[in-house]
Amino acid sequence: KLITFEGPDGAGKTSALNAIVAAIQPRLGERLVVTREPGGNHISEAIRTIILDRQNTMMDDRTEALLYAAARRQHIVQEILPALRADQLVLCDRYLDSSIAYQGAGRGIGERAVYDMNQFATEGLTPDLTLYFDVDAEVGLQRIQTHRQDEINRLDVEALSFHHRVQAAYLKLLADHPDRIKRVDASQTPQRVVETALEILTTALPT
Ligand code: C5P
Ligand code: MG
Repeated sequence: KLITFEGPDGAGKTSALNAIVAAIQPRLGERLVVTREPGGNHISEAIRTIILDRQNTMMDDRTEALLYAAARRQHIVQEILPALRADQLVLCDRYLDSSIAYQGAGRGIGERAVYDMNQFATEGLTPDLTLYFDVDAEVGLQRIQTHRQDEINRLDVEALSFHHRVQAAYLKLLADHPDRIKRVDASQTPQRVVETALEILTTALPT
């Protein structure tokens, strides 16, 4: 099974993922695989480096979307598919929904265009379950300003309106795919966020 973790900046999805892994690792052992886009492989990491340099370059929005899709493709082929074939449970920090929200809505390329272009990269590989960590753009940005000084420079250039578009796109995905995407109220305390996520996981994945 493939389970993805999604949400806007400052939703606390990565911390929640770490706590969830600590909670279910003892039961699953070697069956559990935890990964994040762009993945730990050499090619995807090299692509990620190019994307992150975007502030200092003239990178076109569609170029950025294509690079994310290319990194995703390599991550799928080299890491996700082998794990799924070995019947492992794969938890992945960000996947296609991030591109739809960030490049499609945030950058304004269009959600449909980004989805369609990614079908070439994913060959239709869709998560069995997606946990969407929902937090208002204002709250998310406030958290980052308090806790993550290193991200402030990047966020300065991305206006609040960008983050509103990202969140709105995620909410649209949630409404369109109620069976796949489950909402976690990420405005709760960190402990409650993890508890909520674990409840959804155990309901969706008995055994
Ligand atoms: O939450 P995480 O640390 O994984 O996000 C890294 C950042 O990379 C995001 O906040 C977002 O600005 C950017 N990103 C993006 N498009 C994606 C994935 C991530 O712009 N498809
Ligand atoms: Mg993060």
